[in-house]
Amino acid sequence: MTKKITKEGLYIHIPFCQYICSYCSFCKVFYSKNFVLRYLKSLEIELKKYDSFSFKSIYIGGGTPTSLSLDELTNLFNMIKPYQVKDSYITIESNPDITLDKIKLLKELGVKRVSLGVQTFNQKYLKLIERESSYSKIKELIAAFNDQGINNINIDLIYGFNGQTLDELIEDLKLFASLNVQHISTYCLEVSPSSKLYNQGYEALNEDDEALFYKTIVDYLAKAGFYRYEISNFALHGYESKHNLIYWNNLEYGGVGLGASSYIDKIRYTNTKSLTKYLNNQFDDYKEIVTNDIEKFYEVMLSLRLEHGLDLKKYQNKFHEDFLIAKEDVLRPLINNNELIIEDGYLRLNKDNFFIIDFYLRKLLF
Ligand code: SF4
Repeated sequence: MTKKITKEGLYIHIPFCQYICSYCSFCKVFYSKNFVLRYLKSLEIELKKYDSFSFKSIYIGGGTPTSLSLDELTNLFNMIKPYQVKDSYITIESNPDITLDKIKLLKELGVKRVSLGVQTFNQKYLKLIERESSYSKIKELIAAFNDQGINNINIDLIYGFNGQTLDELIEDLKLFASLNVQHISTYCLEVSPSSKLYNQGYEALNEDDEALFYKTIVDYLAKAGFYRYEISNFALHGYESKHNLIYWNNLEYGGVGLGASSYIDKIRYTNTKSLTKYLNNQFDDYKEIVTNDIEKFYEVMLSLRLEHGLDLKKYQNKFHEDFLIAKEDVLRPLINNNELIIEDGYLRLNKDNFFIIDFYLRKLLF
């Protein structure tokens, strides 16, 4: 047997959900046994494109991967076994309706990290986004994961609901930070035109409020021990998301499933979002050939999202170009003005300017 090439990460998309949330713009469909059966068959065929690879990190996202039955989950994990290294780090996304037998099964199947869609504990906003949950339920669930030995847990927080007050956000932050979790991902609510909430006339937060809410989150979580290592992601030290760091460090990764993307051998692929096409094994939608210039663009755009910023030596080694010299005209005033900072060989945003990263990316990249 030929030796496999080890790659950093593989993303697997499971689009099925038991219920559809009113804000959702992800690639998802209602759970149906018949479609799951056909989907897993197609997924197995698509996976074959990675027969020569094994992956250090495997992330199963959705949709709701835990909407699959015990047998379907077992089937999925058997399918991905050939693509694992000896101790692959497997993360799975879960919703609060996961049952104890599924938690036990996930442990047996080798899951090491769980990302739990909590979003908010405010019942008014849970109703708005058509999800059910409560603080006591989530606390019990986390204890159940911990009992099985799954001790690396992320919870998602959404803010920016129509009419949300700062006090309501702080109440959520208090409850989120009190849970036994190691990682918190935050999202300002965005609704796509295809979502129910959009059609009900949802209005996004104005920019001033969004900035204030974001600053409140950063300050509150820092005091609670969760440091910001990426614009929207907070962790206890040592619990940063290994998988997502693959993306932000601009490394290659595989991706299978509906709407999944991948970056292998200097090509970024995006899969079809049409379930009909996917079930007919027409996987690709489009691909982008990553030229040297495009790769530089990704390198800067992704790494400036990280608290430590762009590794200047890595950039030089990779592109045979000094970024500080290449962009001197644009960089000099921003550095003089303390908006961008050079520290320990990295170029990073001033910590207060993360919220307006797009402004700096436009200056640096266009
Ligand atoms: S938000 Fe998550 S659980 Fe809700 S419909 Fe979308 S993918 Fe499914």
